Amino acid sequence: MKNRIYIKDLKNNIGKEIVIAGWVDVRRDQGKMVFFDIRDMTGKAQCIALPSRIEAIEMAKEIRPEWVLKITGIVNKRPDKNIKDDVLNGDVELEAVNIEILNKAETSAIDLSTDGYEIGEEHRMKYRYLDLRRGRMQKNIRNRHKVVKFIRDYLDKENFIEIETPILSKSTAEGARDFIVPSRLDKGKFFALPQAPQQHKQLLMASGMEKYFQMAKCMRDEDLRGDRQPEFTQLDMEMSFVEKEEVMNLNENLLIEIVQKLYPEKEIQEIPFPKISHKEAMEKYGNDRPDLRKDKNNKNLLAFCWVIDFPFFEKANKDNNPQAEGEWTFTHNPFSAAQAKFHDDLLNKRNIPNILTNQYDITLNGFEIGGGSIRNHEPEALLAVYDIMGVKKEETEKNLFYMLEAFRSGTPPHGGIAWGFDRLMMILENEPNIREVIAFPKTGEGKDLMMGSPSEISDKQLKELGIKLI
Ligand code: ASP
Repeated sequence: MKNRIYIKDLKNNIGKEIVIAGWVDVRRDQGKMVFFDIRDMTGKAQCIALPSRIEAIEMAKEIRPEWVLKITGIVNKRPDKNIKDDVLNGDVELEAVNIEILNKAETSAIDLSTDGYEIGEEHRMKYRYLDLRRGRMQKNIRNRHKVVKFIRDYLDKENFIEIETPILSKSTAEGARDFIVPSRLDKGKFFALPQAPQQHKQLLMASGMEKYFQMAKCMRDEDLRGDRQPEFTQLDMEMSFVEKEEVMNLNENLLIEIVQKLYPEKEIQEIPFPKISHKEAMEKYGNDRPDLRKDKNNKNLLAFCWVIDFPFFEKANKDNNPQAEGEWTFTHNPFSAAQAKFHDDLLNKRNIPNILTNQYDITLNGFEIGGGSIRNHEPEALLAVYDIMGVKKEETEKNLFYMLEAFRSGTPPHGGIAWGFDRLMMILENEPNIREVIAFPKTGEGKDLMMGSPSEISDKQLKELGIKLI
């Protein structure tokens, strides 16, 4: 819009005629005069329509909350007695000269004047585009962008490059159930949506990329308890020629800088982050994501902690790997390397319950916010992992031939990590669940109430895909 200025810049234009555009917030009709607040993405300002501005006041009497307006007006300093300290534009107001209606709005389906916690979530989700207008949601989504940008800049300086990996991918034995996409061109065959870019990022190490990262969408078709989403975002990372400590230090420094630069009101309880073994965590705290905060009432206290020395294998049950109940399964990641002292045990399938992995998890205030490992880059070791899990060598050679071939073609030692980015944002923004920091989340039942999905597809679409519903 020509000549439009942002509401945050009104104060630099005192005495001038300017143009702003935005949404009507609250409106107070005082008969002779009409006051209303108008907001754009940068903030709010008070507008006043005076009796002397005949056209403007006629319009101002008509407008309603959430209408979209273009306003030409004169920026005036408020009389001293009306000045509000500590509020954006608390010392100025806009005298409306001309009001143009850009779009009217029906009465909002949900109240936008509060922080929204009191509104039923079904309503907030159904009208998510309205819900996102409220100040709290604007802040969450804008801060999320700031953190993403900070991460990208930081990693760029550390010589990482961001590489996109496919969304139409293949079933990858990451542990959860895959979302499946039928192929039309190759009927009866299916893609899987990635549970994580794990194999692609390792293949990028085989490709000589050395330092990869991605803000990656991950999809897992799990039963949704509490705070899970069928799709979520990971900061995904992989590095070549690194030891565990290098990956951990880089991530620790990045987390510290995010907090110090973008959330200076928060206090990190302990730097360097404490490291505890899985065994100690279980014995002392009864879980592997201990909440180490000394004061749990302080919402600005952040207690990070690394958990290391995880067992590589555990017995599968219906929670961790329903497909393999009773067999050995990996605790974290089948692509992890065993710790050096257990390397021979792994190759010889000895001492299985005691083999420790090079896995490291990062926890924050009792939540797991990330995890990663140094990987296997030797074909024999990867085959041994699957063998222990009851998958014969021939089958692994068939299923993971590209990984094994890559490992036989000059793949450097490598390791990485992935952060559950939504969860980190939830904690940084003091929100009770990750849906508050995702623009368009699914409900607890995995539904998109706004668009009404999942939804049926037409018979024609099914036919094209060669699919019959039973
Ligand atoms: N791919 C792993 C995960 O999604 C993380 C990693 O080891 O890099 O949990």
